[in-house]
Amino acid sequence: MSGNKNRDVIIIGGGPAGLSCAIWLKKLGLAPVLLEASDRLGGLQTRSPYENLWIPGVQGRTGQEVAASLAAHADALSVEVRINTPALWVSEDGLAMQTDAGFLFAPYLVLATGSTPRAGRFRPAANVAIGPGAAMEALEVRGRKVAILGGGDNAFDQARFVRDRGGQVTIVSRKAPRAQKLLQNMITDVRVVIGDYTADQVGMTVNGESFDAFGVMYGFEAVVPEGLDLRRLDGYIDVDRFGATSVPGVYACGEVTNYWHPCVTTAAAHGVQVAKQISLILAR
Ligand SMILES: Cc1cc2nc3c(=O)[nH]c(=O)nc-3n(C[C@H](O)[C@H](O)[C@H](O)COP(=O)(O)OP(=O)(O)OC[C@H]3O[C@@H](n4cnc5c(N)ncnc54)[C@H](O)[C@@H]3O)c2cc1C
Repeated sequence: MSGNKNRDVIIIGGGPAGLSCAIWLKKLGLAPVLLEASDRLGGLQTRSPYENLWIPGVQGRTGQEVAASLAAHADALSVEVRINTPALWVSEDGLAMQTDAGFLFAPYLVLATGSTPRAGRFRPAANVAIGPGAAMEALEVRGRKVAILGGGDNAFDQARFVRDRGGQVTIVSRKAPRAQKLLQNMITDVRVVIGDYTADQVGMTVNGESFDAFGVMYGFEAVVPEGLDLRRLDGYIDVDRFGATSVPGVYACGEVTNYWHPCVTTAAAHGVQVAKQISLILAR
């Protein structure tokens, strides 16, 4: 059991929301511990080799550099971080949590577990990328036929990147594409097939037509640890303006919640708001 040490807050998830929450809790004089399931901090930003153009005041940095910068900030403040440590289960009251190394206890819990690309019935492979970013960039596309499945912003963005890397790309969307017109207009030369389709990963075909690679762009879904019975909205954890969930003492921030306009700036701000709220309650 590893629950003896006194900690004020356990944060699950080391993306922009969880890291920002941890950084602020530490600055506010509290002792958080942050658990990250993967082998690195930064969340979805670790998948982005592209320049992040959306953070006010930050220019010329890729998503992966933004991830590294957030991790370095937490490190400089000596935030207690455990990577390769998935929270496997959380008790119904949110006070106990199970990891591979045993149980952890704290009076406050912050869920910052983010979201993950929907895979549909596909699985990641050398010729199948699930979601945008590093997995797509790892696909060999030059001179090859690539089907991008989906009709949202990411589908059109990734189709453009594949085209620019010399791939022969086709976007396949069940419904009329919902991507921003701006993105659609950037690739008017790309073939777009609209309508119901059958895609087969084993045979690498879409409606019987052969492809060399698939990019699956089916959007994202919330990642919520097992155990807690939290009120949800469209699959995302429902929180109030302070980040409080339907379970007392359990907070959530960033893309795992139903907050407005997910991106790094808002995820970080959400983490900061939750940190401030918990510090105010603990000070009473
Ligand atoms: C390819 C790509 C490019 C992007 N580009 C931009 C951009 O240019 N600008 C921008 O602002 N936004 C961009 N985004 C979106 C941005 O990355 C997200 O909005 C942001 O990362 C959300 O932060 P988060 O902390 O809420 O969640 P996440 O980043 O999803 O982090 C959640 C973390 O929780 C961990 N976790 C999940 N479950 C558990 C568990 N049980 N135990 C422990 N840890 C767990 C995950 O491993 C992950 O590290 C991009 C996203 C992608 C995929």
